[in-house]
Amino acid sequence: MATVSAPELEQFAAALANERFGPEARRGLPQAHEQYAARRRLPLVPFALWIDGRDFPSFYAALAERKVQGASGEIRLGGPVGRGPSWEFLFPFRRLVLREDGTGDLIPAEGGASRRAVVRWLLREHVRLAGGPSQAPDGAPLTPLPETFGTLLELVALCRSVPLVPLGLALLVYLPEERARYELDLVHNQLLADPRVGRLAVARRVARTARFSWGLDRQVGRGRTSLLAARCLELLAETHGLTAVELATIFGCSRELIDTGVEGLTGRGLVTLDRRTARYHVALEAFLPSSAGPTAPELAVHDPALRTSVQELLAAAESRATCPLCGAPIVHGRDRLVCDDCARTVGLG
Ligand SMILES: [Zn+2]
Repeated sequence: MATVSAPELEQFAAALANERFGPEARRGLPQAHEQYAARRRLPLVPFALWIDGRDFPSFYAALAERKVQGASGEIRLGGPVGRGPSWEFLFPFRRLVLREDGTGDLIPAEGGASRRAVVRWLLREHVRLAGGPSQAPDGAPLTPLPETFGTLLELVALCRSVPLVPLGLALLVYLPEERARYELDLVHNQLLADPRVGRLAVARRVARTARFSWGLDRQVGRGRTSLLAARCLELLAETHGLTAVELATIFGCSRELIDTGVEGLTGRGLVTLDRRTARYHVALEAFLPSSAGPTAPELAVHDPALRTSVQELLAAAESRATCPLCGAPIVHGRDRLVCDDCARTVGLG
């Protein structure tokens, strides 16, 4: 698969948005394409897409095809997979099969048994095709999007209804013990290296459960967080804290931009700053839908107003503890992502 040029992207956008593709969006698209293409990233291998029973040369070609819903699909990686330090932080796979029920099979690069998973997508960089610019210069969303976290079917529907063209997507694969996150560059049809490669020691990574990451990804996917803030939140959640300078090094931007981005997260009680070490930390309890609850002694929030807002977050998170496959509330098995019935059916223990 080859790079999607700016004129090609415009053609796909026109097919996707029809008469809603206004002159303002039409003028802005080549610029967005250029800016996206110029950004620093490390491509690993090309990927091929098979959606609803057909091969597509790009994600855009599938989006432009009205009949395609994204009910099922497959992502195949080309080239040598899993070799070298660029693959740090990633679980190498050869193919990922996507099923209509939101689950999938991850086929490992080195052979061996396939791994059952719950699969979701997260919209990253994108361009709105109607209704004015998508983002302020600092990357904050100007008009909140609907939920940007969902199955392939939901992602395709989101792109068509807003309408928008995605430039980058995160592919979230919830394995029984943890969630793997893959970044896809749709313009160049490439799987990208994790942004931490070469900038953060792998030893600094802290493993989180699939359920914790699910809560975090849902939070990020609510379409109200800037891209940079979302990325900071994701990285902070997988460490014991990072300074603004460390985050700026990883994302190749100024520490002022990091501070601005993370400010919104601290205001929402999702991140705290340890002034002694200058490290930002995630408020872990905000992402644990089934944690011990607001009275847990480890909830180290002393400011009464902030404490109340954290308690509200916890209550909201608790009420959302539902099975991502069937929607049944999850009361027991608190470390598990799916309900007992689905765990038996799809083999996610
Ligand atoms: Zn279920």
